[in-house]
Amino acid sequence: MIAQAERIAILPPYLFARIEQLVAEAKENGVDVISLGIGDPDQPTPPRIIAKLIEQAQNPANHQYPSSVGLLAYRQAVADWYRQRFDVELDPKKEVVSLLGSKEGIAHIAFCYLNPGDLSLVPDPGYPVYGIGTLLAGGEPYIMPLREENGFLPDLTAIPEPIARKAKLLYLNYPNNPTGALATRDFFTEVVAFAKKYDLIVCHDGAYSEIAWGPVKPLSFLQIPGAKEVGIEFNSVSKTYNMTGWRVGWAVGRADVVEALGRLKSNIDSGVFQAIQYAAIEALTGPQDCVAAMQALYKERAVAVVEGLNAMGWRLRVPEATIYVWVPVPKGFNSTGFAEFVLAKAGVVVTPGIGYGQYGEGYFRIALTVEKERIREALARMKAAIGTVDF
Ligand SMILES: *Cc1c(COP(=O)(O)O)cnc(C)c1O
Repeated sequence: MIAQAERIAILPPYLFARIEQLVAEAKENGVDVISLGIGDPDQPTPPRIIAKLIEQAQNPANHQYPSSVGLLAYRQAVADWYRQRFDVELDPKKEVVSLLGSKEGIAHIAFCYLNPGDLSLVPDPGYPVYGIGTLLAGGEPYIMPLREENGFLPDLTAIPEPIARKAKLLYLNYPNNPTGALATRDFFTEVVAFAKKYDLIVCHDGAYSEIAWGPVKPLSFLQIPGAKEVGIEFNSVSKTYNMTGWRVGWAVGRADVVEALGRLKSNIDSGVFQAIQYAAIEALTGPQDCVAAMQALYKERAVAVVEGLNAMGWRLRVPEATIYVWVPVPKGFNSTGFAEFVLAKAGVVVTPGIGYGQYGEGYFRIALTVEKERIREALARMKAAIGTVDF
């Protein structure tokens, strides 16, 4: 047998394998399993966007290799969207690059800046790709705990000086998966100063920037004065327009970082199918009522989850963003034990917090990606099986 490269061997085992096995067994035994585990929008892509894809797929000019950094019209649409939504000015030629979904860029940015042994600062709990991208590039993730008492923002003052000096990348994600937390302007301002002081590149993941229903709209990191000198922001049409399967996103911000990412990518992929880029332009520039409808839908579902859990003894507030509710596990359980208990007793799948890092222990995540009636049914089953909980 040929030994796999070390970069594959260091990939952590798939943490949800056991839960998936248990779900498969429950289904075989005839249990009507309700999955609140999947972070993938259940609603279809709006029809106007699909129509644009069909139209553009019929144009032979779109059948050839695209430019790997994206059509200028696509990069212009992203820049225009940033101006309208955030009042941020971007040069589409130098400060915007297309991605095969933001995940691709989040993983690849580490290859642009990390030499073996270099550090990146990674939030925990968090989207696993920040740490994995770092490891694949030969770097080492340094974990920044996200604690509830800090509003799930990392405490930058707790990062030891030598670590901050050595680190090259700082990953952040607000609105945050899995905690649902929002960043404040003060926090982002502190991040810009920190990045300037220690010469770090900030990689902000804004995947949920439009999935919010609170009084204040989520910020773009690039709205902060000086942000464009220290960092980039990733986003995509995936969550905003129910387009996770289409694989089209962008990185925007600091020009030399955008250029490095584009140069790396031009040697690996050949860009996004042009018909899909035109569909993404339609998504960003067409009528936006679908976004407001989607926000209302997730809010309703979040209320249903929180009401159901609070009726069992939790004391949660309704989150204001993302497609998740992040919930402390009751006394006597760890996150995996609680997820297995709820599956066995109620036929409901929740995601154990440990899957998002060691500081996710003590929590579980509920995804708002099923109909409200199914959410109510899941919580009624949990209440019947568990009764009330203690902390
Ligand atoms: C879903 C998600 C993304 C990835 O989205 P793409 O489909 O690759 O654009 C990025 N970051 C977080 C935190 C996500 O939850």
